[in-house]
Amino acid sequence: MGTKEHVKEILKQIVHPETGQNLVDGNMVESIAISDDRIAVTLVFSRSRDPFMNSIKRQTILSLEEAFPDMKDKVQVLIKEGTPRPAQPEPQKTTTEGIKNIIAIASGKGGVGKSTVTANLAVTLSQMGYRVGVLDADIYGPSQPKMFGVEGFMPSAVKRGELELIVPAEAYGISLMSIGFFIAPGDALVWRGPMATNALKQMIHQTDWGALDFLLIDLPPGTGDVHLTILQELKISGAVIVSTPQQVAVADVRRGIGMFKAPKIEIPVLGLIENMAWFTPAELPNNRYYIFGKGGGAALAQSEEIPFLGEIPIVQSVMEGSEAGNPGVYTHPAIAERYRSIADQIVKNLK
Ligand code: ADP
Repeated sequence: MGTKEHVKEILKQIVHPETGQNLVDGNMVESIAISDDRIAVTLVFSRSRDPFMNSIKRQTILSLEEAFPDMKDKVQVLIKEGTPRPAQPEPQKTTTEGIKNIIAIASGKGGVGKSTVTANLAVTLSQMGYRVGVLDADIYGPSQPKMFGVEGFMPSAVKRGELELIVPAEAYGISLMSIGFFIAPGDALVWRGPMATNALKQMIHQTDWGALDFLLIDLPPGTGDVHLTILQELKISGAVIVSTPQQVAVADVRRGIGMFKAPKIEIPVLGLIENMAWFTPAELPNNRYYIFGKGGGAALAQSEEIPFLGEIPIVQSVMEGSEAGNPGVYTHPAIAERYRSIADQIVKNLK
């Protein structure tokens, strides 16, 4: 068991990325309580909805557990927040000025492969020589950190002139910022509402994106607050809709398309991708099983008067790749070819 002084020493090693001060010198430690079966630390964040709150909490628990192995699972970190300030004034500056094209990737429902498609399109565009970034705004299941193998990345801050910038993760030559870097997995519920939109605004305008040809945004499924925030904060060049054959007939997909086409929003829909279009078993490589019906995606695109970009079959290595931080286009040449054709059309439809 440690003493309070021990604990303080550990807390001195943890720096708030934005202020540059450690937790002790930054007066963030309100109390430390130690007993046989518990270390409880109360941290105070003067700024309400501080985007670094969760990563600092996580880091505090990890560091204390590492320093005091007997206390594994017995470290508690309580958070106190300052009173919320009135709505922040519009940011004067934004780091998005160097981005040429912003593409929103949307779906009617979760689980259709929107995140998988986003990651693979990002890698494909990057392989075509473009500079690419990904903003993972899917508060219901931020899966880009896993897809790119950078789970647990803790964003740090850098000062550039008078701006405080958040440094994105880098994987496969792609700059990645994810709401998942700021949320402890169990806390996802907290993030539905103002806290999520506030953090998202910071991620949009403060991430050190640099010069990019494409920023792909992995939106949450459906239509909601996050979509509105993104549409308000960014000039979206176009939207790509992902659906599965089961979903093409469902109203959510049409609603999703309608959101972009709505008067005053009028974002060009660059096209529809049908994911999980058929299944080919490894032992019968020439057979295609259209388990959930055939041609629905193309028909939907036609009736909505949007381009049909192509189909991606169900491939086991795509699933395994996204679980292992390795987008499918690296492991499966036929899939890579399909994504290349889709990416070519997206680039063409942007013009
Ligand atoms: P969403 O972002 O729409 O919620 P995900 O991209 O997380 O969906 O995909 C859901 C699951 O389906 C993941 O396990 C993913 O690996 C798998 N998956 C997505 N597309 C394919 C595909 N074409 N073939 C095989 N598995 C896929």
